[in-house]
Amino acid sequence: MKKVFCIGELLIDFVAENQGKNLSVAKEFTKKAGGAPANVACAISKLEGKSVFVGCVGDDPFGNFLLNILEENNVDTSMAQKSNIFTTLAFVSIDDDGERDFVFSRGADKELKYDSTLKKDFKNNMVHFGAATAMLGGNLEEAYNRYFFDALTKDSFISFDPNYREDLWKHKEDVFIKKCMPFIQKSHPGKFSLEEATLLSGKKDLDEACNFLHQTGVAIIVVTLGKEGTLLSTRDFRKTIPSIEVSPVDTTGAGDAFIGCMLKQIAEHDSLELLLESEQELSQIVSKANKAGAITTTNFGAIESLPTQKQLDS
Ligand code: ATP
Repeated sequence: MKKVFCIGELLIDFVAENQGKNLSVAKEFTKKAGGAPANVACAISKLEGKSVFVGCVGDDPFGNFLLNILEENNVDTSMAQKSNIFTTLAFVSIDDDGERDFVFSRGADKELKYDSTLKKDFKNNMVHFGAATAMLGGNLEEAYNRYFFDALTKDSFISFDPNYREDLWKHKEDVFIKKCMPFIQKSHPGKFSLEEATLLSGKKDLDEACNFLHQTGVAIIVVTLGKEGTLLSTRDFRKTIPSIEVSPVDTTGAGDAFIGCMLKQIAEHDSLELLLESEQELSQIVSKANKAGAITTTNFGAIESLPTQKQLDS
């Protein structure tokens, strides 16, 4: 089975208690592990895949807490780094509709330093670029771009999730789009939310957005549509694959569970080229990933809500 290297942030999510309130009124918070690439790494390892987390935390109790959680979930943390800058913190609240309200206090995640020894490990493995914070600058952005160039070999596999956060990019959307484009062009699956697909393509209509994204180079597009499931689009076919019916309480991590489950299944295949050309196999992969996303919405928090292989199979 191939390894999946997940590059980007690992941070503390302080989740507001007494759900239903936004951050301006929330008073009590619970400490949870978060960060989209770290969630994806856990999603893969909880499904018995092999994931490696590449990111930076503070050399402080929060950083130790975070790395312990990844290790407890069997994620390889040997490439994780520690900095003397404090661990990145995010404050999260869930409103009545299960949607999130976010505030970031950025710290150690931006300190990730490029390590040239990783390049050889990318060969015949998979690399997932899914950081919400990488395009914001710091050493992380430089490392992210250099790892991207390292992964651009014919033997590697690149997955990209832009993880757009409106509060981080308000009035700078054009900068975000420009920074994402090289990744989109080279990703094998590009994973987008509806908001991201329309933002990055500049097209309001989802069909037109997919056409545009295919024209930029991406062969496989998945657009996650919450309870409606996922739009799967290649140059040969396009269809919406339904999800399962659940009673969601918190959508945090659903998208990470989805892409993690997709990548874990892709990692099990010998011939990526054949797999990625097969409508039937791709559809089955997305259908299972929908299930992983749906299950994750049925509990509060991200990592602890990600399904195990046993849960997914039942
Ligand atoms: P994020 O906001 O975490 O980055 P996202 O917007 O990409 O994620 P969603 O669309 O919320 O992710 O969810 C990912 C997948 O999980 C969906 O494509 C769907 O298959 C499944 N899913 C999410 N919410 C529900 C739900 N309420 N009912 C059933 N399935 C769901």
